[in-house]
Amino acid sequence: MSGDHSDAPIAARVRRMESLLEQRGLVIPGALDETLAAFLNRASPANGARIVARAWVDPQFRDRLLADAPAAIAELDFSMSGGLHVQDLQAVANTEREHNVVVCTLCSCYPLALLGPSPTWYKSESYRSRVVRNPREVLREFGLELRPEVEVKVWDANSEIRYIVIPARPAGTENLTEEQLAELVTRNGLIGTAPV
Ligand code: FE
Repeated sequence: MSGDHSDAPIAARVRRMESLLEQRGLVIPGALDETLAAFLNRASPANGARIVARAWVDPQFRDRLLADAPAAIAELDFSMSGGLHVQDLQAVANTEREHNVVVCTLCSCYPLALLGPSPTWYKSESYRSRVVRNPREVLREFGLELRPEVEVKVWDANSEIRYIVIPARPAGTENLTEEQLAELVTRNGLIGTAPV
């Protein structure tokens, strides 16, 4: 069973558990709501963009990010969980020869903290089934035409591990600051359905 479902039975079970915790004095009433609200307020693709821009300007950070993403993003004061629960994160980098794209084939697992709320198409049956079988065709529909020699890797997220794509740094951006670089990075770029 995977996470991030929004169906009513799970929501009802969460609500029930929350009220039990409150009744037994284990949680201050409203505290979970506040934690969740704070988490959602911070969840934005601007976070993922900052991580990518740092990786572009700092090769050693990039190496650390690819080796141990949770530790590397903690250097920038990001975490996957916002204190809610722990999820693993793996960063995958696009290169001249390799393009990465992320899906959750089971449901809609997604690094919410770093990318903000997921787009509707990410949760669609069509994307989830087709991007695995024919990623090139799906990416073409997003306007991303990959050269034939580029290998496409599809990463299937689940409740244990989430993925973030590190797009290749665009040519001609040598003079941009880290902040300006971050502005180039889009949510779809962080999923792998846009070049940046
Ligand atoms: Fe999922």
